[in-house]
Amino acid sequence: MATTDRAIASAEAHSAHNYHPLPVVIASADGAWMTDVEGRRFLDMLAGYSALNFGHGNRRLIDAAKAQLERVTLTSRAFHHDRFADFCTQLAELCGMEMVLPMNTGAEAVETAVKTARKWGYRTKGVPDGTAKIIVAADNFHGRTTTIISFSTDEEARADYGPYTPGFEIVPYGDLAALDAAMTDNTVAVLLEPIQGEAGVLVPPPGYLAGVRELTRARNVLFIADEIQSGLGRTGKTFALEHEGVVPDMYVLGKALGGGVVPVSAVVSSAEILGVFRPGEHGSTFGGNPLACAVALEVIAMLRTGEYQQRAAELGDHLHHELGLMTTGGAVETVRGRGLWAGVDISPSYGTGREISEKLMDRGVLVKDTHGSTIRIAPPLVISKEDLDWGLEQLRAVLTR
Ligand SMILES: *Cc1c(COP(=O)(O)O)cnc(C)c1O
Repeated sequence: MATTDRAIASAEAHSAHNYHPLPVVIASADGAWMTDVEGRRFLDMLAGYSALNFGHGNRRLIDAAKAQLERVTLTSRAFHHDRFADFCTQLAELCGMEMVLPMNTGAEAVETAVKTARKWGYRTKGVPDGTAKIIVAADNFHGRTTTIISFSTDEEARADYGPYTPGFEIVPYGDLAALDAAMTDNTVAVLLEPIQGEAGVLVPPPGYLAGVRELTRARNVLFIADEIQSGLGRTGKTFALEHEGVVPDMYVLGKALGGGVVPVSAVVSSAEILGVFRPGEHGSTFGGNPLACAVALEVIAMLRTGEYQQRAAELGDHLHHELGLMTTGGAVETVRGRGLWAGVDISPSYGTGREISEKLMDRGVLVKDTHGSTIRIAPPLVISKEDLDWGLEQLRAVLTR
């Protein structure tokens, strides 16, 4: 334990305390497994908040990254490079859209979507300058920038960061009537997670997302789907919105798009909508860089086979079946989610989410708690059924008394 303790003490002394990591220090990882500095193995049931959908050290992704590292890694957008066109074309095609605006982190892509919607509102919809409104949902999580936390309802994420960016309207998630009532002529967009991840893997009521699509279309308002966590295979489909047969005006993607290797994010939309940008009006030094494009191209190729989505659907059915059985024992109160993604509300009498997470860690399983007594389960989609069952066995053991 000495090595672990030293590493943690040192991190605590020299890094800002904006996270409260579990007391484990990872040294290497492969597939769904991570190994710490003491040589102990842990099953990764978080997968970097779904950035690691294809697993740690995925051979195809690592090979693509290595090959690109030897060729060219950054040109900036001042010049074209030879992976850029393929990346944009293939990502647009995967999304059934026309254009891509690449960025790096999820928050940057959300910011880009906000800027796109406002510009579209002024230039195309004809909203009076400076009055555009974007409707968001309560309990959203869209990232950590000053503008994004301005429309968060999480006090922890928001407090002490004012003055806040105006132009956002917050309505309850899953409430179509409230959304309808909040719309005005100045509304340019509705920004939603199809499943609210950080809120505890909240799935909206059936028909809600299709209703949002109808309302936004009827009012000439853009539907922006933040699929940064829900997208790219996690729920058993390429996009969580597909479960409702819904196509948004704009996808916001991140996390798994970079395969857990490099940060890659993007806004994907129509030529009409992303066509609002002219040179100099938005950008990013690293956005769409050759290394990012090379890795993302491999991610897109893997998603095109459909095998990861199918795996997530099949293993997801199994996961939800097994978790469902646990609700009869009293320890598990509610299970939500879709595909290989679950929010599990543990009865508070069994401990906080943090305490459950620590007990699972002691048994070799890594998860992350979210609000209160909720833990979320989102292993890499490449996890074997045996490993998933072993992980669930540890959860059952922790909840047995
Ligand atoms: C993680 C996440 C973000 C922010 O992505 P970062 O890469 O951390 O900036 C935005 N939206 C959703 C739904 C997310 O899960």
